[in-house]
Amino acid sequence: MVNFVGAGPGAKDLVTVRAQRLLSTAGVIIYTGSLINPELLEYAKPGCQFYNSARMTLEEVIDVIKDAHNNGTEIVRLHTGDPSIYGAIKEQMDKLDELGIPYASCPGVSSFCGAAASLNLEYTLPGISQSVIITRMEGRTPVPTTESIESFAAHNATMVLFLSTGMAGSLSQKLISGGYSPDTPAAIVYKATWADEEKYICTIGTLEETAQKHNISKTALIIIGNIIVPGGYNRSELYNPCFSTEYRESSQEIS
Ligand code: SAH
Repeated sequence: MVNFVGAGPGAKDLVTVRAQRLLSTAGVIIYTGSLINPELLEYAKPGCQFYNSARMTLEEVIDVIKDAHNNGTEIVRLHTGDPSIYGAIKEQMDKLDELGIPYASCPGVSSFCGAAASLNLEYTLPGISQSVIITRMEGRTPVPTTESIESFAAHNATMVLFLSTGMAGSLSQKLISGGYSPDTPAAIVYKATWADEEKYICTIGTLEETAQKHNISKTALIIIGNIIVPGGYNRSELYNPCFSTEYRESSQEIS
């Protein structure tokens, strides 16, 4: 049995109870290199074998899984954040299907949630944005042309960019040519929730300068949107005394 496990954004205590149990019972843990806080491997039982997948091909990962499975060993495939986001898990699952090896997924706290917590942000502020666009700049992995940064920028919604800090200059240009004002608030969060986390508030126009000044080109997220420095957002309807819900009758007027 293989469990694809979300390791959370970094901090050792930001994994689920289920993830901790799976880590402590596995005989083999294959983890995604430096994106995983080594402290998480301390949950493993004595004698557990570790593999760093940053140095392995898909085929090598599958060979390790196959051998372990044939020996009756439980395997954890540990992916940073939540495995469903840029995790390259589907290709592994397809190979496991071919081999008839069973698997399951255990979700994790994605780094974009870790970064929001680090900055005490609410991504979905009424009157400012009710959507979060999760995307990336094109790198070696192509991004479909229908998902260009410019086309997303036209929405002026909250945007979180993975895998893009090394391209902050061209990202800024695309965001601006797509419709964001250059002085729209932006944030760079490096190693959210790790002990050596760094976080900087800037603007779309100063993203590249900020990334270069602090020497950040990877293991970071870029957050875009007026939710970062909100002025004049609307309070929620859910907690508004004028508003009845299934659980609460409206009681009073509010100005
Ligand atoms: N599945 C992961 C993302 C894997 S892609 C998740 O849900 O978070 C790897 C990218 O995620 C990194 O290049 C970086 O952009 C981002 N990332 C992962 N952990 C991070 C962290 N602790 N702080 C900031 N960005 C992080």
